[in-house]
Amino acid sequence: MIDLHLHLDGSLSEQDFIYLAKKDGVDLGKDFPNNIYVPMDCPSLEVYLERFALPGLLLQSYENIAHVTNSLVRRLFKMGYIYAEIRFAPQLHAQKGLSQMDAAKAALDGLNKALEECKGFEANLILCCMRHADEATNIETIEVANKLKGTRVVAVDLAGAEALHPCSYYKNVFDLAKKYNLNITIHGGEATGSDEVMMALDNGAKRIGHGVHLDYQGEDGKRAKQENICFEFCPTSNLQTKSLKSYEDVPLLGFVKQGIPVTVNSDNMTVSNTDVYQEFSHLYQTFKLSKENVYELLMNSIKYAFTSDDVKQKLLIELNKRIDKFCQQISI
Ligand SMILES: [Zn+2]
Repeated sequence: MIDLHLHLDGSLSEQDFIYLAKKDGVDLGKDFPNNIYVPMDCPSLEVYLERFALPGLLLQSYENIAHVTNSLVRRLFKMGYIYAEIRFAPQLHAQKGLSQMDAAKAALDGLNKALEECKGFEANLILCCMRHADEATNIETIEVANKLKGTRVVAVDLAGAEALHPCSYYKNVFDLAKKYNLNITIHGGEATGSDEVMMALDNGAKRIGHGVHLDYQGEDGKRAKQENICFEFCPTSNLQTKSLKSYEDVPLLGFVKQGIPVTVNSDNMTVSNTDVYQEFSHLYQTFKLSKENVYELLMNSIKYAFTSDDVKQKLLIELNKRIDKFCQQISI
């Protein structure tokens, strides 16, 4: 399996929480572990976002960031994943003296150590800028990503409340990312509409996080197709944040019909209590996907991954070997 849209702070295991809380003397609350997941009938985006407070509190040291990154890579490997791009915002982990560079290096450290023992599995990191942050803080994220070019930091992102902070506000930030030739993916068209996706394209995005509200049948869809933009769908997360009402509303078939590339991802494995197998399973049950459909979607994940052609070749071989097993796990 492959996940191109996976947030580190939304994907800590219960064991991670227990280990870090005990080590640092943090109270996990009387509702633990229920307070790390949202229910399917999550009442609002606010409740969804509240689930990131505890990880934010725990992930303020080099050791802890390295620990949870290592733990996530090992879990994905055990689950039969072949590739993942794990994203996080270093600036959110710089509240107790850690620099953004240290936070990024901590995640790299945890990732690299885990990969040494997870043969056949590949993973990279994406550094997120935040919509609520000031320009200097986001510029620093871009600078860190540029300095770490050539490591497993492979792209930058923009996350946060898109309704309050439109993508156009971040032109200077992404002009710098473009100048540095960094790969860019941007969250957009999740809480708001198609305009936000167009602004993300103006800012140099080659992939869009979610983008489910793209007007795929209109001019915006044509532009996305022409520019060969890949969309990172995360269906369960969209239902929980009220971006979409049901799995039937996921515009999967519409995008595919228009020839716009789509991938299937989990967003937050813990907060959304899901993984890519489950996401595919929901889409299979809703749209009666065939084995060929699943293969095409996973081929998109390989084609649009921010990794080298060599790695993509290896992933393709692995996908061909494992597609039957993946489909069994999705119940096709
Ligand atoms: Zn996301």
